[in-house]
Amino acid sequence: PVEEEVDLHRVLDETIAFLENEARHRNIAIHKEYMADEPTIISDSSQLQQVFLNIINNAIDAVEQDGDIWVRTHRDGKKNSITVEIADNGPGIPPEHLSKIFDPFFTTKRTGSGTGLGLSISYSIVKKLGGEIVVKSNRPKGAVFTLSFPARQGAD
Ligand code: ADP
Ligand code: MG
Repeated sequence: PVEEEVDLHRVLDETIAFLENEARHRNIAIHKEYMADEPTIISDSSQLQQVFLNIINNAIDAVEQDGDIWVRTHRDGKKNSITVEIADNGPGIPPEHLSKIFDPFFTTKRTGSGTGLGLSISYSIVKKLGGEIVVKSNRPKGAVFTLSFPARQGAD
């Protein structure tokens, strides 16, 4: 991957802008709840964008119609990392699927609409970029994907 100084909020904004029409069309609101300062990380912006696109797209698919998606950023001072949380109020993920959703070709979407590759590719990208990705489901209140990346060295 490329190593560049990435403005995380800019990458998120670009990704959300890309999906906003589809979301509006389905009456799904994407709420940005960003930390006050502008976090920069050393990463690969196009690969990061691919990951956020996959996850927010999945959230839109899960909500289907009339719902909300929250994109939150935080700084974890203790771990010196930046966290991106993507949450939705769709149906959530059944407990028996939680351990499988990052597997290649695992999909619950009907034939032709899902390859089951989005999350497995996202997982590899996040790992390669030195980050972590975890999922929680608050079924029946939606899914929460939490990604964390090392904060830029020397950043405060
Ligand atoms: P695909 O989108 O092609 O099905 P993914 O790897 O992106 O493949 O996702 C795998 C599966 O994980 C989905 O089919 C769905 O069952 C589940 N999933 C992912 N995100 C969510 C979400 N936000 N809410 C509910 N289920 C989800
Ligand atoms: Mg997907």
